[in-house]
Amino acid sequence: AWSQIPQGPPDAILGITEAFKKDKHPQKINLGVGAYRDDKGKPYVLPSVYQAEQQVIHQNLDKEYAGITGVPEFTKAAALLAYGPDSTPLKEGSIAITQSISGTGALRIGGAFLQRFYPGAKTIYIPTPSWANHKAVFSDSLLEVKQYRYYNKDTIGLDFDGMVADIKNMPKGSIILLHACAHNPTGVDPTEDQWRAISDAVKEGDHFPFFDMAYQGFASGDTDKDAFALRHFVKEGHFPCLAQSFAKNMGLYGERVGAFSIVTASPEEKARVDSQIKIIVRPLYSNPPVHGARVASTILNDPALNKQWLGEVEGMATRIIKMRALLKENLEKLGSKQKWNHITDQIGMFAYTGLTAEQMSKLAEEHSVYATKDGRISVAGITSDNVGRLAESIYKITG
Ligand code: PMP
Repeated sequence: AWSQIPQGPPDAILGITEAFKKDKHPQKINLGVGAYRDDKGKPYVLPSVYQAEQQVIHQNLDKEYAGITGVPEFTKAAALLAYGPDSTPLKEGSIAITQSISGTGALRIGGAFLQRFYPGAKTIYIPTPSWANHKAVFSDSLLEVKQYRYYNKDTIGLDFDGMVADIKNMPKGSIILLHACAHNPTGVDPTEDQWRAISDAVKEGDHFPFFDMAYQGFASGDTDKDAFALRHFVKEGHFPCLAQSFAKNMGLYGERVGAFSIVTASPEEKARVDSQIKIIVRPLYSNPPVHGARVASTILNDPALNKQWLGEVEGMATRIIKMRALLKENLEKLGSKQKWNHITDQIGMFAYTGLTAEQMSKLAEEHSVYATKDGRISVAGITSDNVGRLAESIYKITG
């Protein structure tokens, strides 16, 4: 039956991991994967997660199904974390929320919802560049995917004017995807003032904002600060939808903990939206897994654990910020003639180095340093031990 099936291309990031594994260099460095590593280069289980997990286990809970929209204590706390205690729609009970299969699943539910119900054109604009999976998720949701300007490769920063101009040129009522913080892959975020202007432009065009918040807390170390854009939009009277992931900020990658929410105009509207979200989720996967959501819920709802977790998030963000500074410092010490300010200006898990595809190939072939061809490196993969060798390798290929 499948003789006509063509071989599909391998996933770009998984390909890097495979090449890395095959490499025999004793000091090889993998900066491809988007997962946090501690300063020894090891995966990190947050102590708050470990403790919450012990609490969950000791409760001897049953393994019954969750409802279609998941564990209510979790989604309630997830909404509070994102929108904040002062959020008017949250206080009024007009935010519809469902647990999701991490951030990807949240985006996919959002895609399905918009495809089915969005009254305008079923086109979503994503930044250039964006997380590679955005295009795939929204195309598979049968939305048309277009792009807006975001990254300026000359400044290795934000193309703010281009972005705003593109937003103003979109047909009225377009759907626009915004990275709430720690833009992947560039690490380039708008400033708060720029977000205000973006909000105005989105409002002027009557556009529908879809926030992807996969890194709340990971950018600045402060979950409130990282939610600025989303909260500002809500305050300004937008009715955004939101994909949340707890993969990064709780290190719950494989547990697949996330949430999808929509800000609606009233509790009554919320109830109708909620009913349709359930109708979308039921035939997709019936209901989400409970374990990770119970762990996240325990952390979010237990005041002491919550405080501890916020400290751990800050710790991860701080280590990343420190590695950025060390990388820049080492490059400068070596006498690099290039400017590396963007390494420390950028934020979140990734740095967009500005290295070309050829330079990235050289890094892998000659120095056993692996990352994606677009020049993105995962700063979380840099450690006190490997930062010197990494800087030397980059220096050797850039001068
Ligand atoms: N959005 C962005 C921008 C991401 O970088 C990621 C993780 N790489 C996700 C969403 C979703 O990841 P997950 O499904 O693991 O939560």
